[in-house]
Order: sequence, then structure tokens, then C-alpha cells
Amino acid sequence: MNNPISGAGMTSQRTRERLIQRLRSAGIRNEQVLNVMCQMPRHLFVDEALASRAYEDTALPIGFGQTISQPFIVARMTEALLQGGPLKNVLEVGTGSGYQTAVLSRLVDRVYSVERIAPLIERARQRLRTLKIRNVHLKHSDGLCGLPEYAPFDGILAAAAPEELPKALLEQLAIGGRLLIPAGRQGNTQVLYRITRSKAGFQQEELEQVSFVPMVSGIPV
Ligand code: SAH
Repeated sequence: MNNPISGAGMTSQRTRERLIQRLRSAGIRNEQVLNVMCQMPRHLFVDEALASRAYEDTALPIGFGQTISQPFIVARMTEALLQGGPLKNVLEVGTGSGYQTAVLSRLVDRVYSVERIAPLIERARQRLRTLKIRNVHLKHSDGLCGLPEYAPFDGILAAAAPEELPKALLEQLAIGGRLLIPAGRQGNTQVLYRITRSKAGFQQEELEQVSFVPMVSGIPV
């Protein structure tokens, strides 16, 4: 029997390597990020019916109107978050499938990830367990409030787009910390921002145009 983690055919290591080549030619330079993504079985983060498409560079549906992020965007955001040195304490807003969480877990000391849709976080928890990832703490809560009990964070990555930068996330950034977040008011497209906090205040860079699901306030009942 095939090992489900290593995959076969359209989910094989060779298929993953083709995706990595694609990310490289799209401009991803951080070898650690590329390495981790080359090892990570993305097919386990989507429904079995979509597994054969898991190594295409596209977002895919994960239920509840949400999507697993496009590999290029995961790579780009992770690379931009890590520029400037190793990170200890990272908060992710929008666990979704748990794929970005799993990638981060291999690159930083500890990941906290919050998600507002309970069944998604349960599935993500199971996947992380299967992969024996233990430096992640998942919480069912509204990421617009951040996670004050574990703040400050030296990195925050938002996988859903608010209209404006959430104050709580800025406040929970450590001095020297970086926040990667898509934000904007225009329909399906937003700007990906990197905000760096220094003693003097916040410095804002615009990285690129992106398309994320909206960051929604509150927990569904
Ligand atoms: N990185 C994830 C992306 C999932 S899509 C992946 O690759 O699978 C973004 C996720 O953000 C969705 O699951 C959505 O439910 C969640 N989300 C949206 N608004 C949120 C909020 N206020 N707090 C927590 N999670 C939120």
C-alpha cells in the first residue's frame, strides 16, 4: 500500500517538485521555504476528490465557502514574514485547512493559529496530528481580536482580508515584528501589506495585488 503522506501519481514527490520549480521561476528565493513546501503533503489538506489537483498552483475549495491558499501566495507571504531573521512566536489568522499553519510550523519556533469556523479547525487539528506537528496551538476564535493572551508576536500572518488594518493585530505585534496582511475595500482584490513595527511606530510596504476571502467578524452560531 502507498504511504498516504508520501503520495503517488498526481500526489507524488515528483509532482511536488514540479510545483517547487514553478514557485522558483515565479520568484520565490528562500530555500528553506521551498524545501519545507517540497516536503509538505498539500494533498492531505484538501478533500480526496481534489487531491490530484493539490500540486497545481491554485487555491482550492475546502468547504464553508473557504479556500486553501494558492501555493505561490503561501510561499510569498512566508518568505516576506521570515525576511529579517528567525521568528519565535507567530500568530496566523484564518487556519482554514491548516496548510499554511503546517508550513510555518517547520520554519518558526511556535505557531498560534485562530479560525472562526469550528469544523475547519477540527479537521486542521487532525491533519497536524497525522503529520506529528506539535509546535502549533489552534484556537476557535475571532482573529480580528488577535490572541492577546499569547501576545506580543514577532510575526503575524493573516490569511483572510479585512477592509482596514485591525487595530488589535497592530497592537499585538512586538517591536521589530512583522505583520503580513491583505487588506482593501475593492471587491475580490486587495493589496498585500507588510507592516513592520519599530520603536518609532509602524512602517508599511505594499507587496502585491492579491485575492483573499474576507476576514469576517464574530464566531458563527
Ligand atoms: N491559510 C489557509 C487559508 C484559509 S482561507 C489555508 O491555506 O487553508 C481563510 C480562513 O480565514 C477561512 O477559513 C476563514 O474562515 C478564516 N477567517 C475569516 N475571518 C476570520 C476571523 N475573523 N477570525 C478567524 N478566522 C477567520
